[in-house]
Amino acid sequence: MTHYALSAASILEAWERGAGQSPLNRALTLLRQTDPAHSLDALACLPVGVRDKRLWSIRKATFGDRVTALATCRPCGDTLEFSFRVSEVCPAEEPAFPSSTSWEHDAWSLTFRLPDTLDLAALGDLPATLPPGRMLAARILESATHDDLPVSVDELPDEVLYELEARLAEIDPLPDLTFALQCPHCHHAWEEAFDIASFLWTEIEAEAHRLLREVGVLARTFGWSEHDILQFSPTRRQAYLELAES
Ligand SMILES: [Zn+2]
Repeated sequence: MTHYALSAASILEAWERGAGQSPLNRALTLLRQTDPAHSLDALACLPVGVRDKRLWSIRKATFGDRVTALATCRPCGDTLEFSFRVSEVCPAEEPAFPSSTSWEHDAWSLTFRLPDTLDLAALGDLPATLPPGRMLAARILESATHDDLPVSVDELPDEVLYELEARLAEIDPLPDLTFALQCPHCHHAWEEAFDIASFLWTEIEAEAHRLLREVGVLARTFGWSEHDILQFSPTRRQAYLELAES
């Protein structure tokens, strides 16, 4: 069973590795931290829904079930806080996913796989909520035929691309997450998209800075090494911190 909780040392390691990386690579770096047996290249081939399920597991095991996030109301610029539980938005078990799926309609027949992180990277970090269009279709289609004759992606009519989009949404093991929000100030209502990859990275970054500050204070005061300080439990680190600052 995978151990998803990141230790203090592991958080600093992930933060250091991910600091210069793209958002998509940071998500993979976080996955690798809990799954060192697989290479980044192998993890990049996981469907995006499975990747996100693992990121949620890391979030819950490391920082807890309760999530509090901020959103900005575009019309008035107010900041709005909303919260939810990981267990409300994400299944407890890692979902099973088909390695490839077939769809047939009229004379059309398509076989395709679910998009992965490499596909997102190739599409220029576009959010997965956008209609897949031809670029994505070109990457994930394993075969396409009309009246049993092979057709290229460029020959697929728009209706077929829309159908492909609908099928992808249906079989995605973890659909895109949005929250219906309303601004208490101006009453503007909107759907806020929530991306676990960028949210978790922000939390990792904040936690890494907090840990570095603690290590700095304790090392200066007691002369301990970073390695030793990071081995302490949060409770013991906090107690020494209070001694150091008293
Ligand atoms: Zn507002």
